[in-house]
Amino acid sequence: MANIRFQALQDVLTRTIPDVKIPSPKISDFFGANVFDKKKMKEYLSSEAYQGIVNSIEKGEPIPRDLAEQVASAMRSWAMSKGATHYTHWFQPLTGSTAEKHDAFFEPTPDGGAIERFSGDALAQQEPDASSFPSGGIRNTFEARGYTAWDPSSPAFIMARTLCIPTVFVSYTGEALDYKVPLLKALNALDKAAVDVCHYFDKSIEKVNASLGIEQEYFLVDIALFNARPDLYLTGRTLFGHMSAKNQQLEDHYFGSIPERVYAFMQDMETEALLLGIPLKTRHNEVAPSQFECAPIYEEINLAIDHNQLLMDLMDRVAKRHNFKVLLHEKPYAGINGSGKHNNWSMITNTGKNLLSPGKTPKNNLMFLAFFVNTIKAVYEHADLLRASIASVNNDHRLGANEAPPAIISIFLGTQLTDLLDEIETSRISKKIKDDALLWQGIPKIPQILKDNTDRNRTSPFAFTGNKFELRAVGSSANSASPMTILNTIVADQLKKFKYDVDKLIKKGEKKDVALLIVLKKYIKESKSIRFEGNGYSEEWEREAALRGLPNIKTTPKALDAFISDKTDLLFEETGVFTRREAHARHEILLDAFYKKLQIEARVIGELGMNVIIPAAIAYQSKLVENAIGLKDLGLSKDTYKVQLDIITKISDHINIVKADIEEMVDARKKANTIENMRDKAIEYDEKVKPFFQSIRYHVDKLEQLVDDSLWPLPKFRELLFIK
Ligand code: ADP
Ligand code: MG
Repeated sequence: MANIRFQALQDVLTRTIPDVKIPSPKISDFFGANVFDKKKMKEYLSSEAYQGIVNSIEKGEPIPRDLAEQVASAMRSWAMSKGATHYTHWFQPLTGSTAEKHDAFFEPTPDGGAIERFSGDALAQQEPDASSFPSGGIRNTFEARGYTAWDPSSPAFIMARTLCIPTVFVSYTGEALDYKVPLLKALNALDKAAVDVCHYFDKSIEKVNASLGIEQEYFLVDIALFNARPDLYLTGRTLFGHMSAKNQQLEDHYFGSIPERVYAFMQDMETEALLLGIPLKTRHNEVAPSQFECAPIYEEINLAIDHNQLLMDLMDRVAKRHNFKVLLHEKPYAGINGSGKHNNWSMITNTGKNLLSPGKTPKNNLMFLAFFVNTIKAVYEHADLLRASIASVNNDHRLGANEAPPAIISIFLGTQLTDLLDEIETSRISKKIKDDALLWQGIPKIPQILKDNTDRNRTSPFAFTGNKFELRAVGSSANSASPMTILNTIVADQLKKFKYDVDKLIKKGEKKDVALLIVLKKYIKESKSIRFEGNGYSEEWEREAALRGLPNIKTTPKALDAFISDKTDLLFEETGVFTRREAHARHEILLDAFYKKLQIEARVIGELGMNVIIPAAIAYQSKLVENAIGLKDLGLSKDTYKVQLDIITKISDHINIVKADIEEMVDARKKANTIENMRDKAIEYDEKVKPFFQSIRYHVDKLEQLVDDSLWPLPKFRELLFIK
């Protein structure tokens, strides 16, 4: 019998490393070569047109039609000079990946010929058939139209001979059907609220941009082994597999030397990313075998997220050339570390000031404190919503299990800043400080060097790391726009409330700085319970968090409740980020994706169990039976085939349970499928179907240990995890 596992293992041994061509040893020679950035716009556009487009990028003004026409024509000339033949609107529907529909530049002419054309209308707006993207009931089937509209704040780029134009995706009635629209709204809300607060300190500030640096973790696996594991290619994770004798226990992979094959892949991927203007800077091994990480330099958040989405796509394309498959699943292998996507976030003004970076003077420190404390307060107020924004069926394997990071949202500050906040909380600012000279004694000195804060506590889902907050609970396959929309929304809302509270005190006659401090002190006290410096994975923390009243919601369908709570409705209304209809539709979409993914996993488990695992176990069992009968026929004593009988029995025991569990699981699934209410259905899948995965896996993994290695059909963990 041909065994695809051995064929794959054979293929792995014959791998050669492809030659990676690097355009120039100097990255600056080719960085952004495939991007229609400002430099190229300047080259290809008239100076008025260039100024017009820069204005609309910087101020978010709509682009007039005639300007769109000029830009489209310039874009086409540039793209064709680089060998592009097609264009596409590139968008981020709620499926989680990116979407494109390619059109050729050419148009037929009445005389039977053809010309190359790309109109301003085609640049500005497209109407893809939207009916097959998730909409959560927003779009009825009779009104299937959806629009993609150009987002000029993210530049067009060329990928695989196609000009890609970043766009938003909205329904005919104007509702958001993607990740970008709400993100842009949240960034706008943050900009307004943050600028208002900045004006207490510095009237010259006109704009505040959120910045984001995304650390991306991933696994690599040989493509042949990947293809020999239907569970991996259908669900992104291994549903069975006994742990490899050696895994990550020696801790010898992290920051170890990068295997040669992987190194070539990384260089290739980095080159492609740099050509696309993605400023990839770091690469290293991660904790688990064959787990790696890359990170770009931080950028304006909308661009950073587009770049991360593009990077995930790119990684996959480049990996093919190296006979690898990139696994972005949060938990491809049970029992070893999962993958995340750390989101490093800060707020930076148009004057270049990082609002989360402590200043040299007390006045600057008060400004820092305002943004720092308000961020903490925002997360305290909406911890449940932030948790909901990172909830997914995949991420439940990390957040729900006692693994990095926990489902409890808490904030790590480090001792210096904890002491600082404690000091402010207990100081008698409001009573004591009435004149300027004394006031500044109310703000303790903030040490300049906070950099060593980084990574001191890797168990915290939200850590302050020197001059930025790092949200570590985001899943490796997620679109960061989801949590970043929420983070920026809640901070925007909080800053608005802060301004309201401070202004109220000022109106009552309080001095501005005193008013600021009084309100900050109040917030520090109110939000104290979200701060935690200890081990976030420990059971004591779970208990303590419960005493503190912090939410600890381990599973997605319940975590998602926060999206449609009254408190969240109000938040979205205040900030204008989601309409009620949009928020409820999104809730529905996320629940739908959740149960469908479990449904697929359940089906794959059933199929593999019945059609691959049980037959393999029986094949081996038959050999043993034959052998035992032979020994018996020779007239030998039972002792000579004792082991055979023992294994024969054990195999029967396990396959009986596997089969019975699969049948029960199918029944549970059938029952769950009849449930109409989406939340109830998702919970039913989570609580009644999913538990079978574990029990079936247990017995399959036992069989893996019993069956002759040469008959086992699926590549084993030890083969998947160590790259040759
Ligand atoms: P770590 O020790 O966590 O790896 P790094 O300093 O390497 O920290 O930063 C990780 C990511 O954070 C990188 O993408 C980096 O560009 C980004 N980053 C650094 N400073 C900021 C900032 N002020 N705002 C947002 N992201 C930042
Ligand atoms: Mg980090």
